[in-house]
Amino acid sequence: MTRLALIAHDEKKPELIEFAQTHRAQLLEYELIATGTTGKRLMEATGLEIDRMASGPLGGDLMIGAQVAEGRLDGIVFLRDPLTAQPHEPDISALLRICDVHDTALATNLESAAYLLEGVADREE
Ligand code: PGA
Repeated sequence: MTRLALIAHDEKKPELIEFAQTHRAQLLEYELIATGTTGKRLMEATGLEIDRMASGPLGGDLMIGAQVAEGRLDGIVFLRDPLTAQPHEPDISALLRICDVHDTALATNLESAAYLLEGVADREE
């Protein structure tokens, strides 16, 4: 089964929620994981079932990175806030790096996130 991770920095959480609402029917078909706060907000707003990791600053990004290393994820949508410094920046860099090591699809903005979902759907056909 297709397995995706969803992450958004605080300023970007509303955009990710709107994205998940728009693509809810497709996301319902997948196994979803998310960092703690993102997952909580998404579940409340969309009713999607999401396996929540720790919050990003507490290691959630690394937990998702570990699943990439294990080959358990098909893609990640990570809406980053490029304008605000994040205290866990090293963890975020580690997650981006492990996606590149394993050639795992990673979208960091809404436009590429839409392409990622299209690509995942195409693969299933
Ligand atoms: P959060 O973590 O969903 O727990 O806010 C996201 C992040 O900061 O990487």
